[in-house]
Amino acid sequence: MVSTAAPRVGVLALQGDVREHVRVLTDLGAEVTAVRRPAELAAIDGLVLPGGESSVIDKLSRAFGMREPVRDAIAAGMPVYGTCAGLILLADRITDGIAGQQTFGGLDVTVRRNAFGSQVDSFEVDLDVPALGEPPVHAVFIRAPLVEETGDGVERLAVLEDGRIVAVRQGALLGTSFHPEMTGEHRFHALFLDMVRDRGR
Ligand code: GLN
Repeated sequence: MVSTAAPRVGVLALQGDVREHVRVLTDLGAEVTAVRRPAELAAIDGLVLPGGESSVIDKLSRAFGMREPVRDAIAAGMPVYGTCAGLILLADRITDGIAGQQTFGGLDVTVRRNAFGSQVDSFEVDLDVPALGEPPVHAVFIRAPLVEETGDGVERLAVLEDGRIVAVRQGALLGTSFHPEMTGEHRFHALFLDMVRDRGR
């Protein structure tokens, strides 16, 4: 049976650009909730980890008792999309984290925080993303991370001109170094919602 109901998705709302994600997902027809408590995870079929500050989201997730529930949801196969700080939180391994920084993990990658250095706080480029087709994605990078290593099951969805990896997918997990939610780019979120619908079948 194929469900025609709107996908139910959450945005982890501990810190970061939650509203921007809620807006894009709502525009795409999803039923969206801001998620702060473990019980709220039970009512969704997919989760977005927003951009923001990964070390703060990490600390708050532990303070709010969300770390283990989110890890359990990922382990159970819930589709999750992380942008920027959210990508860092999905990574199994990080470099240049603050002391004691943890991630939820799940994505078999090594991600370097603030990988473009302090001189380059933000920049924008047009990125070819073959999985999304034409036109290229106008990508905004803000104190962005880079994917430095990928495990066997990880698909590279986008690379910069010099080959550095900025978007990946592995099973039900999707991550981008940049912020589609800030530029009116809906295709990554649409891809994520397809992943949510596929899993629900
Ligand atoms: N530099 C931030 C971090 O380490 C990420 C920045 C962002 O999400 N735009 O979490």
